[in-house]
Amino acid sequence: MQPNTEPAMVIVGAGHVGGRAALALREAGWTGEIVLIGSESALPYERPPLSKGVLTGAQTLAQTAILTPEACDAARITHWTGTVTAIHPMARSVSLSDGRSLSYKSLLLATGGHARVLAIPGADHAAVQALRTQADAIALAPRLKAGAHVVLVGGGFIGLEVAASARAMGCRVTLLEGAPRLMGRAVPASVADRVLALHRRHGVDVRLGIVPRAFEATDGVALRIHLTDGEPLLADVVVVGIGIEPATELARGAGLRIERGIVVDRRLATSAAGVYAAGDVAEFPSPLSGLPIRQETWHNAETQARVAALNMLGGDESYRSSAWFWSDQYDWQLQVSGEPALGVTAVQRPLGDVDAELNLYLNADGRIVGVSGCGPTSVVAKELKLARTLVERGVHASAEQLADPAVKLKSLLTA
Ligand SMILES: Cc1cc2nc3c(=O)[nH]c(=O)nc-3n(C[C@H](O)[C@H](O)[C@H](O)COP(=O)(O)OP(=O)(O)OC[C@H]3O[C@@H](n4cnc5c(N)ncnc54)[C@H](O)[C@@H]3O)c2cc1C
Repeated sequence: MQPNTEPAMVIVGAGHVGGRAALALREAGWTGEIVLIGSESALPYERPPLSKGVLTGAQTLAQTAILTPEACDAARITHWTGTVTAIHPMARSVSLSDGRSLSYKSLLLATGGHARVLAIPGADHAAVQALRTQADAIALAPRLKAGAHVVLVGGGFIGLEVAASARAMGCRVTLLEGAPRLMGRAVPASVADRVLALHRRHGVDVRLGIVPRAFEATDGVALRIHLTDGEPLLADVVVVGIGIEPATELARGAGLRIERGIVVDRRLATSAAGVYAAGDVAEFPSPLSGLPIRQETWHNAETQARVAALNMLGGDESYRSSAWFWSDQYDWQLQVSGEPALGVTAVQRPLGDVDAELNLYLNADGRIVGVSGCGPTSVVAKELKLARTLVERGVHASAEQLADPAVKLKSLLTA
């Protein structure tokens, strides 16, 4: 409580958005108190390495930090470990489960999402886990021993990245995906097929159209997994990667508008005065189409945090950054930029490498509105970056130009 001073800028959720927004508030000139409240005991950190370098040992947890204790001190950011149980927009205050409460001048909801859990018998067994937090990665990393059988449930990005990391550690890997293809509708079928072939080449037993029915403890250490089809599997560890549910419960409890996430406007303001939301939890108007979208990406967290912070201070910043997502698997990279779904024409651009693919999407005006692609990082990274810049700059081009390898993407930037 701060009876005699101006209320604090309060951020609920000390994750990617929370950490970046706290820093941005200070950088933008806020001299009052900044209180960052998070359920995890760790200071804010980046999550992408958790399924990649942190599991293989190529990256330490310290290298993932967004805020260190020293940086908090230097920026005078107060970090509270605790769970906010209610927000009170009329009173402009928040309550925590430990009885504490705090008034705010502006509030940012940066609560991210909860890993979905499997609703089948035995899903609470100790060998079954999700991968969302540093604590999850700390639990998983030592289980990826050479020869261990790792079973992944879900053929989305997290499952695929863990599969690649587990193979790098010498594990036997089985991946179960209920749908007939990998990665749902996040990428075109051609990209999904290439990634499927990549994993099979690397020795992953990918089974499509199959899900676990039940987990059963055995006499030994292994877990028996009963499947919807085929013989049961024996696993040493199971990682469930079936997506997240946006953590909207506080907003819902306070009567804020919720659709597929907490609904915010172009300024990332919610339906309650002085309350903002950003990151995985927010549904915002697409800068390209104005249609509501929600993104679960590093780039979205990184860029929305700053806009939210400026608007918490009374600014009138619109969120304008176009979407961007990447995934690293083995020596490959996969990227999606902009919004391919807005395209009416899809153009495949030859890259001179049988494994690589680059698709560009044009809307009815001939504007490049989306990009998807994958392939060996050394082959695709530069072209994907250029293509992403074309989307960001709203460049117009013809399908013929994009399909012609003689027309360099760089030349379209300056045209
Ligand atoms: C393993 C993994 C790998 C990823 N890899 C990639 C990648 O390769 N590329 C990419 O673009 N994106 C990737 N992402 C996605 C990216 O990390 C997220 O989009 C980003 O972390 C979202 O940031 P956020 O701040 O919205 O949510 P989070 O970082 O999840 O932070 C939310 C925080 O809020 C806290 N919280 C929730 N409710 C409360 C409450 N009531 N009280 C207090 N605290 C609360 C949570 O404990 C959490 O710490 C990955 C994510 C994961 C998990």
